[in-house]
Parts: sequence; structure tokens; C-alpha cells
Amino acid sequence: MKPLSPADLVRPMLRQMYPYVPGEQPKIKGLIKLNTNENPYPPAPKVLATVRKAIDGRLRLYPNPTAEELRQKLARLHGCRPENIIVGNGSDELLAMAVRGFVEPLSLSHRARRPSRALVQFFTPSYSLYPVLAEIHGAATNPVPLEPDFKLPELRTLRRDKQWDFGAALTFITTPNAPSGTAYTTTRLQELCRAQRGVVVLDEAYVDFANENALRLALSLPQVLVSRTFSKAYSLCFQRIGYFVGHPELISALHKIRDSYNVNGLGQLAALATLDALPYYRANFRKIIATRDLLSRELGGLGFQVLPSQTNFILARPPGLPASTWLENLRERKILVRWFDQPGIRDYLRITIGTERETETLIGAARKLS
Ligand SMILES: *Cc1c(COP(=O)(O)O)cnc(C)c1O
Repeated sequence: MKPLSPADLVRPMLRQMYPYVPGEQPKIKGLIKLNTNENPYPPAPKVLATVRKAIDGRLRLYPNPTAEELRQKLARLHGCRPENIIVGNGSDELLAMAVRGFVEPLSLSHRARRPSRALVQFFTPSYSLYPVLAEIHGAATNPVPLEPDFKLPELRTLRRDKQWDFGAALTFITTPNAPSGTAYTTTRLQELCRAQRGVVVLDEAYVDFANENALRLALSLPQVLVSRTFSKAYSLCFQRIGYFVGHPELISALHKIRDSYNVNGLGQLAALATLDALPYYRANFRKIIATRDLLSRELGGLGFQVLPSQTNFILARPPGLPASTWLENLRERKILVRWFDQPGIRDYLRITIGTERETETLIGAARKLS
């Protein structure tokens, strides 16, 4: 018998798959880390105290399986019922569950017909996890380009160009968008959502830094789910807490495919304590927004082309040298930003908004390098 080859044990589709590539988390002393959109400010003191106090013998117990208390508190915050909410191990887990719950894996019969039931649709550029989730599930993807200035195409443009599928089983819309930082109005989103016959996930990971949010669409249109996370705005990436708001029918379908204890107990406690400290976080949003606007102006003055942002990062096209060279030059000065080797955004850097001091250092470095 032929010796066993471990690679043959892995599904062929997986052997050749490119995984999602998260931003680096280097451990370099003094590094100014502006590459993964983490919040530069720590969690509220009460959140840290709550987590510390919970670390004792109770860690042997399972946490609440449905994050019940957290869902109740979120429901009060959003003016809905706990049945409208599911909590995940970060919103990434819920995005994956949406694919598993609402999209058919691509079969031969789907390939023959129009594969709308097996289709995951999204605009490009947006969150690069979506196509990876579709591929893992064996679903088809429909990446549709945004307008050249990263604006949302008009409904009639989508109808005319025929590439957009109004029957797609699942459509992801990052709003405000990443990595462009562009905001879409709720009016435009509503128009688009109402035209869709499949599920639409509005991924609002950065919405706390924006002028408006589309939560009411999740509570008025049965096909719309809004995705939120404690990671970026609430300084809680480490704890992995995200949630969906939407129609109880969609939410209960997702509960069925959830791991029994998908949300860790310390994370649940940290998120609950966060909701008791909202004024602290709102003050941080204001600081980050002010720093973002200052950075945009300063870099603009140095010849960067900075896109208007409603997030905690900016997308900026640096002057002179290629963006990838800027990335390296900034790294030499211990400033880490993000560069995507992808069509349409190759000429840009994505820069997370740091503290005021970090931002001054960045502006100083940009001035020397330009
Ligand atoms: C960061 C991010 C997420 C994931 O957030 P987690 O809750 O930490 O999993 C989802 N969507 C977008 C667009 C993001 O940028």
C-alpha cells in the first residue's frame, strides 16, 4: 500500500485556497502601530476592573450559552428585543455563520442554472474576508466594483450594468466602507436593501465614527442584518465580541448553527461593563474623529490625496514614491501602517488613527519623507 500522505487527507479545495491575511501584530518596542484599526485608547477602567474581578475559580464553569444578559442590555440600547440579537466570537464569526446559514454550497445543478442561491455578493474594495468565507463554504462570489471614488453605485447603474444580482442569497455591505473609509447614506442603503430578495448584512464595524447608522433598516426590513463589534470603537479586540441585529426569524436560524458556547465568559462580562461606560467611549470617538480630521488636513498639505473618512482610519495616496516604498520608509521609523497589494488600492496606504502624540510623530515622519 502507498504510504499515507497527510496532504491527501485535506479537501482538494482547501489545499489550494488562499486564507485571509490579517494585519501583522509585531512585538517591536516603541512601535507606533497603525495597521489594524485598533483603538489607541484602553478600555474604560471599570471594564478592566470587571474582568480582573472575574478571574477566579469560576473560570471552570461554562459561560451563558446565548450571552443572555448582554443581549438584553443591547436590546434596551437599540430599542428592540433580545430575540433580535445574536452575539458572536467577534463579528467575524457571525459573518461566517451568515454564509453557512443563508447560502447554498455550489453544486453542479447550481452551476448549470443561475447560482443566486449559492451566491455571496459584495462591493470591491471592501472587507477582504468575505470572499474567503464564501470559498470555504464552497459558494460562488460576485465582487462588484464601487465607483472610482469608492462611492456606492446608484441603483439604476447596478440595474443597467447587469453585474449586480438582486437575488443573491447573501450580500455583504461594509458601511462605512473599509479600507476606503467612505460613508454611505442610510437613504441609499435602504433603497438598495429594499431591492434585494436575499439577505443583506450591513457590516457596521466602524459606524461609531460615522455621522449616521442604518440600524433601523435591520428592525424594519426582514432581509437586513446589521453587524456590530466591540473591537474597534470599544477597545475590545482582544475579547472577541460582535453581534447581529435583525429579524427574529433570521437570528434564530443563526442560533441553530452556533457553537454551544461560542462567546467566552470574560468577553461577555467585559461587553456588559462597556455598556455601562458609554460616555467614556463617546469622548474617545470625539477625540479620534478630531485627530482623523487633523491628520487628513496635514497629510493633504504634504501632497497626500486623502479620502474623506467616517471611520477610525484613513485611506491616503502618498506623493512621489510608490505606496509600498512609503510603507517601508515609515516602518524604518517604527511606524507601521497597512498597504494592500490589490487592484484599485495599490497606490494607497491605510492608516489607523492613533493617539494625538502618535499622529504628530507620523506627520513629522511624513514631512521628512516627502
Ligand atoms: C474589524 C472588522 C470586522 C471584525 O471585527 P471582529 O468583531 O473583531 O471580528 C468585521 N468587519 C469589518 C469591516 C472589520 O473591519
